[in-house]
Amino acid sequence: MENKCLFCGIVNREISADIIGESELSLAFKDISPVAPKHILIIPKKHVASVSDIEIRDIDIINDIFILINKLIADDVIFENGYRIIINNGNYGGQTVYHLHIHLMSGRKMNWPPG
Ligand code: 5GP
Ligand code: ZN
Repeated sequence: MENKCLFCGIVNREISADIIGESELSLAFKDISPVAPKHILIIPKKHVASVSDIEIRDIDIINDIFILINKLIADDVIFENGYRIIINNGNYGGQTVYHLHIHLMSGRKMNWPPG
């Protein structure tokens, strides 16, 4: 838990969010400003600021987060036609919340290259 971290606040249920899935080490909730019909954020419950801060000992967290993502995908037909997973990292990467989060988006055809 990191003081004043928005997503730690969601993990601790101090800040409300539309939580749609949970595992031992990870939490999934709807993005507050969706950019696709389906836009979910999946985060580790442990505070890890960004991809750059992942350490070898975090292997269980990374494993857990992708298992939860695959469960969300398996449980909703909206993902049948494909989906996009994005991690923004740092200023130029477009990261605005410094608690590691994976964007899971679907429900429309995605553009490439991204902006
Ligand atoms: P980033 O730009 O860091 O990759 O993504 C941060 C994401 O968090 C954005 O898509 C933004 O809409 C979302 N977000 C920011 N504040 C909140 C919040 O209070 N609740 C939820 N559910 N999502 C948030
Ligand atoms: Zn945090």
